[in-house]
Amino acid sequence: MSLDGSVDRRKQPQTPSAGNGNGNRNGVVEDDKLTLGRSPNESHKPESYEDLKLEFSPLLFSSLEQYLPSNVLNLSRDLKLQYMRHILVRYSPEGERTRVQRHREYRKKIISNYQPLHRELYTMHAVNFFVPSFLKAINDNTKESLRSIMIEPSPGVYTFEMLQPHFCELLLSEVENFERWVHETKFRIMRPNTMNKYGAVLDDFGLETMLDKLMEDFICPISRVFFPEVGGSTLDSHHGFVVEYGMDRDVDLGFHVDDSEVTLNVCLGKQFSGGELFFRGIRCDNHVHSGTEQEEILDYSHVPGRAVLHRGRHRHGARATTSGRRVNLLLWCRSSVFRELKKYQKEFSSWCGECQREKKERQLLAVGATKLELLNRLQKSTS
Ligand SMILES: [Zn+2]
Repeated sequence: MSLDGSVDRRKQPQTPSAGNGNGNRNGVVEDDKLTLGRSPNESHKPESYEDLKLEFSPLLFSSLEQYLPSNVLNLSRDLKLQYMRHILVRYSPEGERTRVQRHREYRKKIISNYQPLHRELYTMHAVNFFVPSFLKAINDNTKESLRSIMIEPSPGVYTFEMLQPHFCELLLSEVENFERWVHETKFRIMRPNTMNKYGAVLDDFGLETMLDKLMEDFICPISRVFFPEVGGSTLDSHHGFVVEYGMDRDVDLGFHVDDSEVTLNVCLGKQFSGGELFFRGIRCDNHVHSGTEQEEILDYSHVPGRAVLHRGRHRHGARATTSGRRVNLLLWCRSSVFRELKKYQKEFSSWCGECQREKKERQLLAVGATKLELLNRLQKSTS
């Protein structure tokens, strides 16, 4: 482990805790044995770290110093500092910390320089954004009203009319305007995910608030009803972006699952052929590579304005867009509650197609064994 924070994150504990129970009795400080005391040493007067330029607040080091093991306390300030930085880097998700900070600065830079073309997109105007049938179903807010606008072509995949053509046009033109600005200013933008070389993160250039509203008021009411077992009623953050496909863009997208609990995917248009979305069943982490059953196979052709809603764990991909250009709006909706619960609960994968099959198989075997046992007993008692 180096001090510049280049730590192998896989080796870091998942849940930070002070002290791992491995003391360093011999005064030898090994990387994996760094510990802090359980209570502060009140009689120790900590040093000042104010004169140093550190990645954490100097006050944090002064406070932390009182928790150092006695054999470290009397070392030089530099060594103590080294020891504490090791601990902070290991206990705090440091990569995450700098990543979040950098991303915040990145967004600030874009938002203070980019001039939006269609300001009306940046705040929610439901009547202008959505088709009347969708709005009515959401306002009625019953299972029946939502069902009435949906088609479920394969279990767990819901499609429905959602966006007005005019809204799609405006959003497409805003994205084009943003891309133009990126090109002209040679701004280095981050793409939506590791799989797409084209496309843009809408949250990065000012649409975050509007998309939050979209998730809370329009997607949550649906996912609460259709995806309650994957945190559908507790969605609390999102990643909103557009992807662009075509001969001069990304062509297709391999088979994958999303980093989301619920994914909204709406085609914004243009003219295109190909680009079908294919689905291959819902899988948990353990079964993401398992085979597909016949009834899990679905190929869906995008229609501009029409939404597809599915669980993030529903395996899918996009076939090649063979001509024209296709742009889709993606909203990965996440639930921190669900992610937290998932860490601690076993038997959490009732929604996984493979887990369900394994469970059924176990039940069948158990029934078979019981039958056999009964038959044997019956035979014994009659003979
Ligand atoms: Zn499973």
